[in-house]
Amino acid sequence: MTVAQEFEAANEKYAATFNEGGLPMPPARKVLVVACMDARVDPAKELGLSKGDAHVVRNAGGRGIAAIRDIVISQQLLGTREIVVIHHTDCGMLTFKDHELHAKVKSDLGENADHIAWLSFSDLEKSVAEDVVALKKNPLVLDVPITGYVFDVNTGKLTKVEA
Ligand SMILES: [Zn+2]
Repeated sequence: MTVAQEFEAANEKYAATFNEGGLPMPPARKVLVVACMDARVDPAKELGLSKGDAHVVRNAGGRGIAAIRDIVISQQLLGTREIVVIHHTDCGMLTFKDHELHAKVKSDLGENADHIAWLSFSDLEKSVAEDVVALKKNPLVLDVPITGYVFDVNTGKLTKVEA
């Protein structure tokens, strides 16, 4: 059995009692959150979000600078007017350097991926601040409040980072 098959079974149960249909497409709280894809991170629970509240973009590290496409679509077409960037403790992005993954891809896959910036980092507060500053400077991003945080996967606590 694949995990996808388990998902199909779980969804049958979910849909049987589903009662949150009919929500509007634009996020009710007009906010976009960028967070890491880490399996221990769950922005809806951590931030008190309900279905329909927010755009949540997830990628490796929660890198705001890797979410430009999503941010422009969110702001220009769906009316969000605030951005929150969240990186987290014990992130996988702290465990390697970009050049190491470039070398691994070369040796394991025989492919050159040097043009891809993996955006690994070695300092959490610094990576959050970097993302916030980069988004504030990006001409494609509206002049809206942008706040950065570090989420602690062991305590569940969010700590604001001054950019
Ligand atoms: Zn992570």
